[in-house]
Amino acid sequence: MCGIIGYSGPKQPLPILLAGLSRLEYRGYDSAGIAITDGKNLIIEKKQGKLQVLKDHLSDKKINGNIGIGHTRWATHGVPSDENAHPHYDNNQDFAIIHNGIIENYDEMKEELLKEDYQFESETDTEVVAVELSKRWTGNLLETVCQVAKDLDGTYALVVTTVKQPDTIVAGRMMSPLVLGVGEGEVFLASDSAAILEHTNKMIFLENGDFVEIKDGNYELFDINMNKISREIQEIDWEVSEAEKSGHDHFMYKEILEQAEVIERTITGRLEVGSEEIPVDLKQAKGFEKIWIVACGTAYHAGLFGKDLFEKVLGVSVSVELASEFRYREPIVGENDLAIVISQSGETMDTIAATELLKENNAHVLALVNVVGSSLARMADSVLYLHVGPEIGVASTKAYLGMLVGQLLLAKHWDESSKIETTFEEIKQLPSLIKETLKCESEIKEISKSINNHKDIYFIGRGLDYALAAEGALKLKEISYLHAEALAAGELKHGTLALIEDGTPVIVTASQHHLLDKTTSNVQEVKARGAFVIAIGNNSSKKLQDISNDYVTLPEASEMLSTIVSIIPLQFIAYHVANLNGESIDQPRNLAKSVTVE
Ligand code: GLU
Repeated sequence: MCGIIGYSGPKQPLPILLAGLSRLEYRGYDSAGIAITDGKNLIIEKKQGKLQVLKDHLSDKKINGNIGIGHTRWATHGVPSDENAHPHYDNNQDFAIIHNGIIENYDEMKEELLKEDYQFESETDTEVVAVELSKRWTGNLLETVCQVAKDLDGTYALVVTTVKQPDTIVAGRMMSPLVLGVGEGEVFLASDSAAILEHTNKMIFLENGDFVEIKDGNYELFDINMNKISREIQEIDWEVSEAEKSGHDHFMYKEILEQAEVIERTITGRLEVGSEEIPVDLKQAKGFEKIWIVACGTAYHAGLFGKDLFEKVLGVSVSVELASEFRYREPIVGENDLAIVISQSGETMDTIAATELLKENNAHVLALVNVVGSSLARMADSVLYLHVGPEIGVASTKAYLGMLVGQLLLAKHWDESSKIETTFEEIKQLPSLIKETLKCESEIKEISKSINNHKDIYFIGRGLDYALAAEGALKLKEISYLHAEALAAGELKHGTLALIEDGTPVIVTASQHHLLDKTTSNVQEVKARGAFVIAIGNNSSKKLQDISNDYVTLPEASEMLSTIVSIIPLQFIAYHVANLNGESIDQPRNLAKSVTVE
C-alpha cells in the first residue's frame, strides 16, 4: 500500500515520477503528490483523488528540477484530502517527505511539537516526521533523518528531500518495502521494482534499518548509526511489457488471460523428481512433525487448498492460519515444524510479523512468494517463487493460481507413495488445460447478466472446491461490492440455508469427483428453496447439470487439475459482474494491493 517513487539523475524528474506513479497506482489512489527541488526551491504539488487529478493539475505547469519524489496514498490516518496527501512538509516548507507505513507514536510526538508551537496542516501520522526533521536539522540530511528515525515506532519507507541540501535524497525503511534502482548515472527509488523496470533492471532491495543517501545519480548505503553497509544488486528478469495492460481495459482481465503462459513458467524445471528448484526435498519434508500455512486474504485461501495436499502426502497435521490472528495468540510452534508462508508481494505486513514469530520458535520457514528479493523471501529459510510476473490488478488472479500450482508442485515432490493421482506428465499439460478453460468466458459473460443485480451471492463447494469457493466469493466482493459468502456445501443446513430464497444466486464448484453425490444433494437443498444455481463441473455430473439453472462445463482432466482450473470461471464471474455494474476494477474502493500495514 502507498506507492513511493524517487529520482536523482540528469533527466527531468517530473515525467519519470508521473510514469512511476502510474505504475504504482494499484498501491493506493486516495491522493497523489510530488516534490521537486531545483537547487533553490522546493516545489510541492499534491491532490486528493486518483493520479489523473494531479496530472491534470500539473498539465500546464513547468516544473524543472534536479531531483524528485512522488507518492500515491492509501490512507491510514486521516481522510483522503489535499491536506493529508503526501508529500508532507515542515512549517517552513524546507523539507518534503513521503511515507509508506504507520508511525505508531505520532500522537505523542505531535503533542510535544504542538506545545512548542509547531503547526500541523494534516491529520496524518507522517507530518510529524517532517516537522521533527526541521526542528532537529543538524546540517546533514542523512544524519538528521537517522536521528529522527531512531525515535519512530512503527513502520516506514521514508523518502526525504530538502532545500537545505538540495542535491540529496535520503530514504530509509523499516518493514515497508523500498527498492533502489541503479541506472547509468541515475538512481531510482520505488515501493515496487515494476515501477522503475523501464529504466533499469538492477535493483537493491533495502532491508529493515537500511538508509540510503542519493546524490547526483549516485548512492551510498548506511545503517541507522550511519555506518556504511553494502547490499547486493539483483537483476530482475521481468519484462517491462508484463507490467502493462497490453491493450486490455484492465490489468485484472489481462492477468486472467495470461494465466496459461505464466503457469508454464511456474512449472518449468520443477517437474523432475529431485529438481533443485524445489526447496525442501522429500527427506527433509518427512522430518516435519507439523505444518503451518500462514497467509492473508487470497493467499490464505490458497493455503486452504494446500492443507489437504500436504496432509495427504506427508501424513502430518496441517494448520492454516490467518497471519493477522496467528501472531496475537500463542501457537505451539516447534523446531521440527514447517511453516509455509504465502504472499504474492512477499511484503504483506501481517505475514511478515507472523513469520518473525515462526522464526523465533525455530520452525523451518518456506516462503511461497512472487516478488524476487522481497522481505519474506529474504526472511525465509527456503523460497519457492511463483514466477507469474508482476501482478498489478488489486484482485489477485494469476498469483492465486500460481500459489495453487506451487503447492501442488511441493506436494508432488513429497508424495512418496503416489497419494496424489495427478502425474508430473499431466501437470505439464496444465497450461493447455488453462487455455481450454479460458474459453468459458463468453458463457460466463452471459451468466453474469443474471446475477449482477443481486445483493447477496453464495458460493458453495466441498473439499478442495470449498477452498476455491472461498476465493471466488472474495473476488466478487473485492471488485463488485456485492455481498458474497462462501460455505462448505455441507454447512448450509447448519444455518445459512435460512437466507436462501426465490432467485438467490448460488454458485457451486463441483470438480471434486469423489464428493459429487454429496455436493449434488446440497444443491438439491438450495434448489428446493428457490435458489438460482450456477454450477461449474465436468461432463460426468449429469444429475448436477440437470438441476442447475446454468452449468459451466470444464474440460476433461484429472480431479486435481479440474479443481485448479475451476478458479478461472470464478475469476470471470467476478470480473464480468463488476464490469457490467461499471465498477473500477483495478482500483476497487478502500482497497490497495500489497498490504504493508497491519
Ligand atoms: N500513514 C500514512 C498516511 O495515512 C501512509 C499510509 C500508507 O502507507 O499506506 O498517509
